[in-house]
Amino acid sequence: MAVGGEKKSGLTRLPTACQARRTAAETTAVVTATATLCGSLLFVLAMLAFSYFASQSKHEELLKKAHQVTPETSPNLGALARDCVERLRPGRVNFFVVPGNVLNAYTFGLSDPKVVVFYSPMLQVMDADELKFVTGHELGHVRLGHTWLNSLVGGMAGIPSPLFAAVILQIAFRWWNRMCEYSADRAGLLACGKPNKAISALVKLATGGAAQTSADLQKALALIEKEDDDLANNIGELLGTHPMIVKRIEELRRYIASDGYRRLQALVNKNVEYVS
Ligand SMILES: [Zn+2]
Repeated sequence: MAVGGEKKSGLTRLPTACQARRTAAETTAVVTATATLCGSLLFVLAMLAFSYFASQSKHEELLKKAHQVTPETSPNLGALARDCVERLRPGRVNFFVVPGNVLNAYTFGLSDPKVVVFYSPMLQVMDADELKFVTGHELGHVRLGHTWLNSLVGGMAGIPSPLFAAVILQIAFRWWNRMCEYSADRAGLLACGKPNKAISALVKLATGGAAQTSADLQKALALIEKEDDDLANNIGELLGTHPMIVKRIEELRRYIASDGYRRLQALVNKNVEYVS
């Protein structure tokens, strides 16, 4: 301590009672804010861990009933899936088929290899090109990072919060889900390379596989095109994770007409030419 430092009077060194109260209030505010922030971070991490383990155990349960697609168990589906992987280059992915009565497929995984699951009706209802669209759609989710983002954002959206905030979080999360579906549809189209097959796959999904012949598909498409005229459908979509099929078809048609699609399709096709 310097002996010859500036000498101050006791009055200037000692805080006034008012200053002391303000300093104490500020300290309390900082401590409270820090504690709240740390508590919130811990809570978010706990929720993420919970949602991760909950979804892991759900998937593991499902995979117990599934069989893995290998060149031995499913040579055709295996070759089709490999072709889509070569086109889209999503990283390591394992494919499974699970018995069920829903016309669906989905993907999950936070670490490699990611997993794509086909419910068995998909293999009966879709032809090879349509199946490439479905496979490419799921691989698009993988390639674009939706699988881990979905767990992360989904976990955050599930955090209990005041009602209004919860509603906003849920609506925002669902909106983000729907945007992911449009992107994955583009990947599906790039994997299949046939716009009419991408659209017929979507029509078959909408009808649960009931429309199979070309006439049935046309009739179903005409009905689907009226889907967005209905106000209830539009309101219902706000709460859904998937857009209405009519909007997915419209979005695909817009993309098909773009130069960006033609350029990207040529690049994706080169991926398989290069490999073969
Ligand atoms: Zn999807």
